Amino acid sequence: MKRILDAEPAVAKLCGPQKAREEAPYRMTRHCVSVPCEAGTLLYQTLTGQLVLIEGEADFAASRGALIRDRFLVPEDFDENEYADSIRWLHRTLWKGKGAKTRFMILTTTDCNAHCYYCFEHGKRRYTMTEKTARDVAEYIFRASKGKPVKLDWFGGEPLYNSERIDIICAMLREKGAVYRSTMISNGYYLRGDVLKRATELWNLESVQITLDGMKETYNRVKAYSDEDPDPYETVLRNIAESADAGVQVAIRLNVGAGNAEELLSLCDELAERFGGKERIIAYSSLLGDFNGHVGGFEDAEQEARQYLAIKRRLRELGLSEERIPKNRTQTNCCKADNDGCEIILPDGGIAKCNINYEESRIGSIYSDELDENQVKSWKEETRRPECSDCPMYPRCYSLKKCPWVGVSCLDGVQKIRVESLRDEMLTAYRKMGGSLRFKEKENQPVECEEQKGEEV
Ligand code: SF4
Ligand code: SF4
Repeated sequence: MKRILDAEPAVAKLCGPQKAREEAPYRMTRHCVSVPCEAGTLLYQTLTGQLVLIEGEADFAASRGALIRDRFLVPEDFDENEYADSIRWLHRTLWKGKGAKTRFMILTTTDCNAHCYYCFEHGKRRYTMTEKTARDVAEYIFRASKGKPVKLDWFGGEPLYNSERIDIICAMLREKGAVYRSTMISNGYYLRGDVLKRATELWNLESVQITLDGMKETYNRVKAYSDEDPDPYETVLRNIAESADAGVQVAIRLNVGAGNAEELLSLCDELAERFGGKERIIAYSSLLGDFNGHVGGFEDAEQEARQYLAIKRRLRELGLSEERIPKNRTQTNCCKADNDGCEIILPDGGIAKCNINYEESRIGSIYSDELDENQVKSWKEETRRPECSDCPMYPRCYSLKKCPWVGVSCLDGVQKIRVESLRDEMLTAYRKMGGSLRFKEKENQPVECEEQKGEEV
């Protein structure tokens, strides 16, 4: 057995080596994902984050002791899900923050210049932050962060529809000597010229996420901007290039549904033509859910996983997505909603926990130090779907009872997508960490790994 990635140190410390039980029958843990590579089989333990290579059956037999120690093999009667829950609880308790808030998602407005049919804000109240509230928000952030560096996530609506409030908040924080940086989720339409200058010089904008739903015709129809512009698609693509040139990392999100999956493959090619080789532009795919128990309108899980993964892999082949290796950290929070270090600040100064159901998840206001503790607690309640108990992703994935996606995210092909994506990452790690190199040395001849040949895994 050869180690490719070590276990996460904190988890390795909490778990310690598993002691072998004499005569006990052992089986593979449910928390193991395997994938063949040219040198044998890669095994990844999703609780500890350890990745190993097993070079054939004889190696597997010879490595039995190590596989037990490192929790790839567990006793037949072992409940690894219960064990994973207890380790996550311990991890969260021991490494809890010290009370300062350091991450703020700020909605400058719930209004927007685009009219996407799938937007979760349909039917919600449209309101905008005033100048006075923006000043109060800056005071609050300075107070709540207790002198620690903060991360600001600009959100909306369209955050740039009220960009003057971003100026006020950042200028005041700067005046007070606060250390801050920011990210943004935006349609990108206004991110150019003077706005972009303020973004880099005053807002310390590091990255922006911009969604494209299809090629020119589809995009312009779906977004239905209220601005006078014959071709907003072209405007946004120009803005993406300008932002990257100005030093902002742009993540282009491709919303995938059954209706646009084929078209997105062509969009990947167009993006590669326009942005290929350009620094600071990446693209990634994301499933389009509708909160009614359907993800993207696919016929079945197979179609969903196949089409989603085809786009993901096309982006990788074209050099538009980051090559990832498996995460080496335990997921101790599901999202902002169960993280005490994060708050969502609404345009009227309200504080919320969930950025989709922000009205329903209000817990207080910037004008009071009192929080609705029952509400805070209720947004931390966890839940599991029946299919989770046999899922290898169990240690790294859980949901919140009140999350609006809870009835959606694993109904169809999401589990398959997560496991297949992890397999891709395992092979990347194997290649990057010298898996192929070691194999070459052993065999004393050059052997290309499947990944290097550019074939799909
Ligand atoms: S939500 Fe889906 S991916 Fe996550 S543990 Fe459950 S079945 Fe697995
Ligand atoms: S509760 Fe769900 S929708 Fe709300 S922030 Fe968390 S993951 Fe997002």
